[in-house]
Amino acid sequence: MTKRDYYEVLGVSKNATQDEIKQAYRKLALKYHPDRNPDNKEAEDKFKEAAEAYEVLSTPEKKARYDQFGHTAGAANGNQGFGGFENMDDIFEHFGDIFGDLFGSPRQKKSRKTGPSPRRGHDLEREASLTLEEAFSGTKKEITYYHFVTCETCEGKGTQSGTSAETCGECRGTGQVHYRQGIFVYSQTCPTCSGQGFIIKNPCTTCQGQSRTQKYDTLSVTIPKGIFDGAELRVAGKGDAGVYGGKTGDLIITVRVMPHKTFKRVNDDIECTVALTYPQLVLGSQVEITTIDGEKETIKIPKGCPVGKRLVIKGLGFHKIRSKGRGDLVVTTTCHIPSTLSKEAETTLRAYSEQIGSSVEEGSSGVISGFFKRFLG
Ligand SMILES: [Zn+2]
Ligand SMILES: [Zn+2]
Repeated sequence: MTKRDYYEVLGVSKNATQDEIKQAYRKLALKYHPDRNPDNKEAEDKFKEAAEAYEVLSTPEKKARYDQFGHTAGAANGNQGFGGFENMDDIFEHFGDIFGDLFGSPRQKKSRKTGPSPRRGHDLEREASLTLEEAFSGTKKEITYYHFVTCETCEGKGTQSGTSAETCGECRGTGQVHYRQGIFVYSQTCPTCSGQGFIIKNPCTTCQGQSRTQKYDTLSVTIPKGIFDGAELRVAGKGDAGVYGGKTGDLIITVRVMPHKTFKRVNDDIECTVALTYPQLVLGSQVEITTIDGEKETIKIPKGCPVGKRLVIKGLGFHKIRSKGRGDLVVTTTCHIPSTLSKEAETTLRAYSEQIGSSVEEGSSGVISGFFKRFLG
């Protein structure tokens, strides 16, 4: 077969710039790309021809020799002409960057090397359960989890020492085979390599060629004070090991804060209720409460304090996780109603009731006020 002129192949003039040559080649390469023309021998030949032309015309020394001597230039140097590409993979190896992402990276990656492509390991998600106290002051949690680790025997290669994986000849490393039926071209997972694109003839006996093994690991995780329920902590590189030397994924820990019987978190505030006696509410008082960190705090109940009043103690809430400072402690008052009274207390209370004119006899009417009064008309 007579070789066509390289400029003719690419459809450019002899004075074409490197940019024009590259553009022309790119166009042809995409047009005759095997992914677009499966099992098309003619397209494959054109693809190889264009690659060869580009290889020469994009290399200054080769181009100079070709311009001077034509196709015989290579032969003069003892080579067989300029030499083409027999193997499609070599073309991708050489000019992978020309194709960019047009055909997606898997083809490019699989075609660019022999053997398996490294793949990043999965991120793993685990939960850490915390008491509200632990969330308040920060803590350390041991997380035990089962995950993939790089096989120590083969160091993630999947092969026995001294051997290596081979690109699958059937699918040329793409993992897909194409066949034609009438006008349709079908693709299917390569039966030889099960779609992997490579074959390991001597698999590592520890990992059976998988490049990874599984085991339990325990990781001590520092949980910062102020952490909130649902927060995610990402521990880089502690997830599943990558496949065939790929990067290890991350471990993502979702924080679950258990409900507390006294305190409730609202944003960065801590809310609780304090039950006071009627005299404490009416006369005002000082009461001591225990905060979430076990400290004693005296709070002042104002005289004539209604039930449901929110008393805000600044700066005794949660430590803010993304900024400095703390939320508040919000104490809501309730009234403690005793179920039993001593004889003396009852006598005193009845006397007081009479004094303020509130009847405690059957059939007596209450006082409707405020909010409810408006609705009841
Ligand atoms: Zn295959
Ligand atoms: Zn192994």
